[in-house]
Amino acid sequence: MNESASGKHRLVVLTGPTAVGKGTVEAQLRAAHPEVWVSVSATTRAPRPGELHGVTYWFVDEQEFAAMEKRGEFLETALVHNMAHYGTPLKPVLEHMNAGIPTILEIDLQGARRVKERAAELGLDVVYVFLAPPSFEDLIARLASRGTENEEQRQKRLETAKVELASEGEYDVVITNDTVEHAAEELWNVISREYA
Ligand code: 5GP
Repeated sequence: MNESASGKHRLVVLTGPTAVGKGTVEAQLRAAHPEVWVSVSATTRAPRPGELHGVTYWFVDEQEFAAMEKRGEFLETALVHNMAHYGTPLKPVLEHMNAGIPTILEIDLQGARRVKERAAELGLDVVYVFLAPPSFEDLIARLASRGTENEEQRQKRLETAKVELASEGEYDVVITNDTVEHAAEELWNVISREYA
């Protein structure tokens, strides 16, 4: 068992630009390795078709999100694409990690930075993973084909993506999402190095 000095496992933080396919890679990873637990974030954005409360996200309104934040319930929060708030509830993360369950956060770049700031204070040992698109053109194509955003939202997301792509160097591991299977296997390699 590869454990940190604090006796807890390392937390895996997965980030990457908008529409790079984090959700798809995660789904593939969980199908192959159901023992992995992916943290369920709270968000103020509206659910997309097929998304479930408590499964995809905890869908909350601005007031509820602010109350959770005030109560100190979040490990990190971020205003993403200047449109909606997202936050990682801290308690379930600590519970899963203490139970020895491989735990992943799928969050944006600002959130990853916030985790970096708080990791020492919380005694968390973290490995930071960046999921990169094969190219910027590929990312534009993915966002267009997803069809879940209008033109204004797409433009905002691409602006965010440019900034996010430039931050690749801040991460411990970079995985290119050339195929979902390959990226999921690479992610599993990172996890199993931590948990094997
Ligand atoms: P989406 O709205 O497409 O589900 O997610 C938009 C962005 O928010 C993605 O980059 C996703 O990684 C990020 N995100 C999801 N949950 C959280 C969270 O709890 N914290 C932060 N900082 N970002 C999150």
